[in-house]
Amino acid sequence: MPDDSEDRAEAWRVRARRFAEEVLTPVAPGIDATDVVPPKVLEGLAAAGFLGVGLPEEYGGRGDGARATVAVLEELAKGNAAVATMTAVHLSVAAAPIARWGTPGQKEAFLRPLTAGRILGAFALTEPSAGSDAARIATRYERVPTGFRIQGAKTFITDADLAGVVLAFATRDATLGHRGISAFLVPRGTPGFSIAQKLPKLGLHGSTTNELRFDGLELPPEALLGPEGEGFRVAMDALAGGRVGIAACALGVARAAWEAMRDAARRAPEDWKSAAVARAFVDVESAAALVERAARAKDLGRPYVPLASAAKLAASRAAVATASRAMEVEGRGAGTRGSLPERLLRDARVFPIVEGTTEIQELILGRELVGR
Ligand SMILES: Cc1cc2nc3c(=O)[nH]c(=O)nc-3n(C[C@H](O)[C@H](O)[C@H](O)COP(=O)(O)OP(=O)(O)OC[C@H]3O[C@@H](n4cnc5c(N)ncnc54)[C@H](O)[C@@H]3O)c2cc1C
Repeated sequence: MPDDSEDRAEAWRVRARRFAEEVLTPVAPGIDATDVVPPKVLEGLAAAGFLGVGLPEEYGGRGDGARATVAVLEELAKGNAAVATMTAVHLSVAAAPIARWGTPGQKEAFLRPLTAGRILGAFALTEPSAGSDAARIATRYERVPTGFRIQGAKTFITDADLAGVVLAFATRDATLGHRGISAFLVPRGTPGFSIAQKLPKLGLHGSTTNELRFDGLELPPEALLGPEGEGFRVAMDALAGGRVGIAACALGVARAAWEAMRDAARRAPEDWKSAAVARAFVDVESAAALVERAARAKDLGRPYVPLASAAKLAASRAAVATASRAMEVEGRGAGTRGSLPERLLRDARVFPIVEGTTEIQELILGRELVGR
């Protein structure tokens, strides 16, 4: 059978570009100012199938794999980075792990509403005292006659206040390190689960960032995702896929910043401005090549974890550098609160941190490259 995956990814790109231009770009300044995504945007994402792309068709997903997913996320991010990040988290670190590790019952209960966009998904690993070294999480679970009881706190959790289900990680004994960790599906409204606060951020306004409490949260046995004690593997596998998606979001911001820079250079064509546009072009296109390579490797079932790190490194660096340079090329107007380069720079600054910092990506990629 001929491989039409490129055409299919391109068709998704065209659809997402139209959605970004017609729906997201006009509301992006308002989302930035209010930190709220209008309901019509969420309804539009669901109706267009963007909340099911790359997920199994058997459970209502739209299939088409990682290349289609990165095309959608990149185009959405050009319109609004917060909406793209919300979509990336939903697809890659909430729905995809359920598709990979879930039982048929869990897929019916959670994956089907996720792929339809009836609910959003969130991913809760980070804790007040465990970020990069996730094996040190302290949220505890214990077995009880009815299933599991969970006690602890999570922080910096994207869109948990909007999510219908949170994929959360807890340990049965913190001294066991990664071997003690299990993954749980926590539906919205479960008694004992609360949002302690919404954290204000520099950028990505509209993608909310939350502190969560699990206070004697009781879950049935079927809330366990994957085998008990394999939660760390569930998390690392989700994050590897997630990094390809976050790299695509960063790439979209880099491209939006590059276009803003190019337009400013056209209006005032000093030589140094054209040179800045040229340099940024190379950064953005190099990042795009790595994002494409990581997505292609993932679709082909080849090892892609180091490529995901390389793509995230390149795209998050390109986003920050291009948005920053766009401010200089645009001149003093870019320093005004809410100007496009200013917003893009604030949005870009999150990408070197989320789903593993720059230093952690360098460790993953470096170990692979030197064969350790
Ligand atoms: C906007 C936003 C949204 C987020 N969304 C989510 C989410 O939905 N779910 C979730 O679980 N988490 C989320 N996070 C958390 C994010 O994954 C963590 O911030 C990230 O993993 C880093 O952890 P930390 O902040 O605790 O920093 P730390 O781990 O404390 O790191 C601090 C600094 O030390 C460096 N460092 C740490 N270890 C090493 C090392 N071994 N070698 C070299 N340098 C090192 C880091 O690179 C960093 O520069 C989000 C964060 C942000 C900012």
